[in-house]
Amino acid sequence: MSLFGKDKSTKPEKPENTVEKANPGDVKKAIEELSNSLGKERVLSNIEERICYSFDGTKQKALPDVVVKPETTDHVSVVAKIANKFAIPIYARGAGTGLTGGAVPIQGGIVLDIMKMNRILEICPQDLTATVEPAVITKHLQNEVAKDHLFYPPDPSSADSSTLGGNVAECAGGITGLKYGVTRNYILALEVVLADGTVMNVGRKTLKSVTGYDLTRLFVGSEGTLGIFTKITVRLIPQPQTILTVLAYYNNVDDALHTADMVIDQNIFPRTLELMDETSITAVKNYGNLKIPDGTKALLIIDVDGHEAAVKEELSVVEEACRKNNAIELVRANTQEERDSLWAVRRSISPALFKIAPLKINEDICVPRSKIKTILDKVKTSLEGSSILMASFGHIGDGNIHLNYMHHEDQKEEVHRLVTQIFKDVVDLGGTISGEHGIGTTKKEFIRTELSPGEFKIMTDLKRFFDPKNILNPGKMFPAEAL
Ligand SMILES: Cc1cc2nc3c(=O)[nH]c(=O)nc-3n(C[C@H](O)[C@H](O)[C@H](O)COP(=O)(O)OP(=O)(O)OC[C@H]3O[C@@H](n4cnc5c(N)ncnc54)[C@H](O)[C@@H]3O)c2cc1C
Repeated sequence: MSLFGKDKSTKPEKPENTVEKANPGDVKKAIEELSNSLGKERVLSNIEERICYSFDGTKQKALPDVVVKPETTDHVSVVAKIANKFAIPIYARGAGTGLTGGAVPIQGGIVLDIMKMNRILEICPQDLTATVEPAVITKHLQNEVAKDHLFYPPDPSSADSSTLGGNVAECAGGITGLKYGVTRNYILALEVVLADGTVMNVGRKTLKSVTGYDLTRLFVGSEGTLGIFTKITVRLIPQPQTILTVLAYYNNVDDALHTADMVIDQNIFPRTLELMDETSITAVKNYGNLKIPDGTKALLIIDVDGHEAAVKEELSVVEEACRKNNAIELVRANTQEERDSLWAVRRSISPALFKIAPLKINEDICVPRSKIKTILDKVKTSLEGSSILMASFGHIGDGNIHLNYMHHEDQKEEVHRLVTQIFKDVVDLGGTISGEHGIGTTKKEFIRTELSPGEFKIMTDLKRFFDPKNILNPGKMFPAEAL
């Protein structure tokens, strides 16, 4: 019996896609071939081992038939060749922190645990590039390049644990998006293993390249559905000399939003501009040493960075904007330790929210900046009369808001209705249903709300071209009938 007991989600009763679950006989033969080619120690098929690879940052679970732990590009290529021969799904997996079910093996098959491919291969300060294997942890790369006074800006809140491969696959964003952009803006070149095991290099190590189509960009954000990244070359920029941080408390969200607009109107692009609403603040107030003033209903965490003299001036403009917009209190982080402690609180929101309700649907909509207030008002109106709790927080600098519907089992249908409507509203406002977490399994039923029929057709045609047997992360991104 499954260690998950009777949880039906352990193995879907029916495959979710047109590719049938692999034939058990073929899976057995494939496992034998994998063990013979890669060595038994790299192929895990015990139930206890497989369970460890059955979930990601969502609560979805599905058991793989086998877990393979490659150490080289050749190993990955061998796995793809064997999977292709037997038409068995391959689910590439980094740290498993994804929030849309991307690494969950919903059709069984192979989980490709990439975590042993974790070397920084080269940091080249003169070229302003670094080349890494896919399992390098984001923060580790940031720390290593900082030794050469360089900066890799994409900074998801999961940076301490997520991998560069996972970041590229999801085009991870994070708190520095407004000023520095997202993962896509820093990927110069990739080594990719295709579905049939072919190893291909796309992009160049140069800071510019316009030869042919931009295949690198096509792979960024492809969620493991077009190829498996085995080497990643990123662009680096100089490390800002100084970072100053201020925390501003407000008694309503609108004042915080007006502050953000006023700061940007004055041509200041903060490194971060993060909003937390009352529910998020309540969830984290016991983390760190925050002394939250009475009446607080929203807060902003704002970092400014750059040359010391400029940053001091920018911070005073920012603080003035906070005051003009009725901030109840401003707190400056004067030391790196104080700054770290503030950000630790911000980074703890996601897990802390589970204290409020057992279930959480975390949407990561993104709207044009001018529409942030409109969408937050729509969310508020949609929840009138409902007992579902909303925790909204996120990167208001770039319009990317995390809407967390905190609910109980019997409210699932209501949440689904609310999310469906909000996604329509977001798209009507010119926004996107996912700013950074990807589509995976959790949003695939909504993908056509946003994509035009033409876009959808080209994307599914591309998927079929790159992966004719639909073995790379099947069941993700597109609804079953589309492939
Ligand atoms: C507390 C918390 C905070 C977070 N904050 C943010 C945030 O601020 N911004 C943000 O964007 N995300 C955030 N995330 C989501 C998540 O961390 C990112 O999506 C991250 O990029 C996933 O990396 P991973 O290594 O965990 O990938 P996994 O979860 O293992 O995989 C994610 C996807 O990438 C694919 N994949 C992994 N490795 C490869 C590879 N080598 N080749 C091809 N495909 C691959 C997988 O198949 C899967 O589809 C957060 C998650 C948590 C739990």
